[in-house]
Amino acid sequence: MDGLVFDNRFTRELPADPETAVFPRQVTGACYSRVKPAGASRPRLIAHAEEVSELLDLSLDPTDAGEFARVFSGTRILEGMDPVATCYGGHQFGVWAGQLGDGRAINLGEVVNGRGERWVLQLKGAGPTPYARKGDGFAVLRSSVREFLCSEAMHHLGVPSTRALSLVSTGDSVMRDMLYDGNLKMEPGAVVCRVAPSFTRFGHFEIFASRRDFDTLRHLADHTIRTDFPHLGEPSPEVYAEWFAEVCRTTAEMVVHWMRVGFVHGVMNTDNMSILGLTIDYGPYGWLEGFDPDWTPNTTDAAGRRYRFGNQPHVAHWNLGQLGNALLPLVGEAGPLEEGLATYARTFDAEWGEMMLRKLGLDTFRKGEDESLFTELHAVLQAVETDMTIFFRRLADVGTQEAAAGGEPDGELPAPLRDAYYDPEVVSGRFRADILAWLGRYRARVRQEGTPDPVRRTRMNQVNPKYVLRNYLAQMAIDRAEQDDFTLVSELLDLLRAPYDEQPEREEYAAKRPEWARHRVGCSMLSCSS
Ligand code: AMP
Ligand code: MG
Repeated sequence: MDGLVFDNRFTRELPADPETAVFPRQVTGACYSRVKPAGASRPRLIAHAEEVSELLDLSLDPTDAGEFARVFSGTRILEGMDPVATCYGGHQFGVWAGQLGDGRAINLGEVVNGRGERWVLQLKGAGPTPYARKGDGFAVLRSSVREFLCSEAMHHLGVPSTRALSLVSTGDSVMRDMLYDGNLKMEPGAVVCRVAPSFTRFGHFEIFASRRDFDTLRHLADHTIRTDFPHLGEPSPEVYAEWFAEVCRTTAEMVVHWMRVGFVHGVMNTDNMSILGLTIDYGPYGWLEGFDPDWTPNTTDAAGRRYRFGNQPHVAHWNLGQLGNALLPLVGEAGPLEEGLATYARTFDAEWGEMMLRKLGLDTFRKGEDESLFTELHAVLQAVETDMTIFFRRLADVGTQEAAAGGEPDGELPAPLRDAYYDPEVVSGRFRADILAWLGRYRARVRQEGTPDPVRRTRMNQVNPKYVLRNYLAQMAIDRAEQDDFTLVSELLDLLRAPYDEQPEREEYAAKRPEWARHRVGCSMLSCSS
């Protein structure tokens, strides 16, 4: 474990809860509570992302895996670590929920690497904290596999995300009611060590604003600006507003990435929104298989579908509105914050158009013409069950030049696209006419720009992934992990390091969802306990 240099600025600069015993309580006037991780009885390293250790200047000697597992399960605390759980609140499903806080997350400390970068180490599932409320503070293997793999997959897709250093099984059992239906089960416990420049959430500011504790609110805001936004200069009412505008901008960019790759977060409560515009808290998330803007993976959200794929841009805006309200006491007037929110809409619209253009391999946005090209594409993608990832990836292989366009028999769908459909039978009649009409317009549009097909293909393959963490793939890795076989976890971690590359020996992982996974728990239905 040599090489980790700690500099715990958060705990040094911000007010601490004087109480150090762990029992559920309201913590006021403090940003965090000191806690001791519970420790695991038989910690064992299951998987580890080397790229993340490199960020920390941490070298893992394979003979040292035991020590690594002890440290990153919270069983052994290193000199320089200062474990704490932080206090935050949040709006859950659109309703103010009061204090939430790190119920099962423990920050071990802040590492500063040789390049001067600051990385916070956070264990998820290392035991109860004062914020655990009715929870036990632990995490199960299946949810930890999902968090570990998806954090890294998102990063390699180019989506801003917290990272995952390690996945350690604890050797302890955890009791869970997976679907909240009274079926209790003992499950294997695990701990993920997450890594990010900061884990501060919108809810960290909301809690102090809601309590009218403006001193602590200011303290935390100033700390955040000085540590994570130093380019904005010394805090002042103008700087708070500029900072908010920057959060609006980075949040818009993050959500556009989600829409690009077909990611559905599943529980976009304000306590799950990062101040750095990182994807955070991988719980009941899912990946679009059939392109369906109404799809939500979260069973808790099934009735209202607040967190459905197509609603994510709107929810992010709403969440930023809550953050703006919390910052109002610092800015003093609403105008500059409303400006910030307008930045969200502007950034989102511009980035979304740019993203769609790039997904289609086009170069220059033509208002009107391209807007209807996008709208009509979304209509044909929804008309029948169409695998989003396969469709965009294969569209790159569809020829657009006159000769290629005449290559299929009249009225046939271009061969590369056929695999994108869940039921080949439905690609007929009216639907086939619509998709062919759209393809005709698309080909004409590409020819108008004059991009040669091979160039377009290369460009499109840089933004349309071949491999994503399909819901059923994660579940297969979990099924095997629960049998003590972690090979698929490692295989998927490695596969998803290069999601835009063709990996011919791993073609099977690009396949659309098999029928057995359509209604299986874990593949299409997840709860917050996921
Ligand atoms: P989430 O829905 O995962 O974002 O969690 C919402 C809140 O519940 C946060 O304050 C979490 O820390 C807390 N929480 C979730 N699961 C547990 C658990 N097993 N034990 C303690 N707190 C939990
Ligand atoms: Mg959360």
